[in-house]
Amino acid sequence: MAATLAGVPIEADILIDWFDEHGRDLPWRHPECTPWGVLVSEIMLQQTPVARVQPVWLEWLDRWPRPSSLASASQGEVLRAWGKLGYPRRALRLHAAASAIATEHGDRVPDDVDTLLALPGIGAYTARAVAAFAYGKRAPVVDTNVRRVVARAVHGAGDAGPASNTRDMADVEALLPSSDTPAARFSAAIMELGALVCTARSPRCADCPLTGLCAWQRAGKPAYSGPAKPVQKFAGTDRQVRGLLLDVLRNTSGPVAKTALDAVWSKSGQRDRCLHSLLEDGLVEQTTDGHFALPGEH
Ligand code: SF4
Repeated sequence: MAATLAGVPIEADILIDWFDEHGRDLPWRHPECTPWGVLVSEIMLQQTPVARVQPVWLEWLDRWPRPSSLASASQGEVLRAWGKLGYPRRALRLHAAASAIATEHGDRVPDDVDTLLALPGIGAYTARAVAAFAYGKRAPVVDTNVRRVVARAVHGAGDAGPASNTRDMADVEALLPSSDTPAARFSAAIMELGALVCTARSPRCADCPLTGLCAWQRAGKPAYSGPAKPVQKFAGTDRQVRGLLLDVLRNTSGPVAKTALDAVWSKSGQRDRCLHSLLEDGLVEQTTDGHFALPGEH
């Protein structure tokens, strides 16, 4: 079974066989994992590595095994349980999606892409990932790892160019086997290959099931010539400051005075800008007497 588009084909069977043997044993991939567990994992994994997600995911599924159980928790509880996963707006998005699933879908995660897309906070990637990984459906699931493997193995480029939802999904769609189950396995396999073998900095071509077939390898691994990618730094960024401010609130049980927040970052302009953005995002609330708290905790 070979899937083709303009470029070199990827043999789906080869990739799926490799995945069966080398794919990681992750709890959200177990057959007994519910679609809800898959949805939670997909939101957590979007910007956080597997090793940090796994313990938090286990705690969450133990504490909130169904959408309705998460929906009944307060936003403050959810943000506290999100811990240090980063990008905490994801926690509120998950909470909002859980509420909609509980009230509008009988506590069952929908199985089709359009219904998933209509849920609050569920975007193109998550909707297709849930359809494929929770329900075994044919849907193009495109993340950074997938884009990189396709760029190299199919198009012979050293890396993927700037993301384009429509073009990237069409690219991957053309590679998918035609029926649901192998297409869903293919989606998981190509993503795993990008995560484990065809990595950004040091692809291990000798260990790759596509070695000898890959367009980039066969072309002699020409250097990437597309636009430079922005470097993601953390130290000193607003993201770091927002995290420090939220930590103060996560580590207390009630509202705190502004002085407690001021203590975590010396640059007052940046600190106040970050606090303002947390208030705007609904991650922090201000009490009538000027204190600050996690949402719903005052
Ligand atoms: S052969 Fe190398 S570059 Fe090609 S897909 Fe495999 S790891 Fe990536």
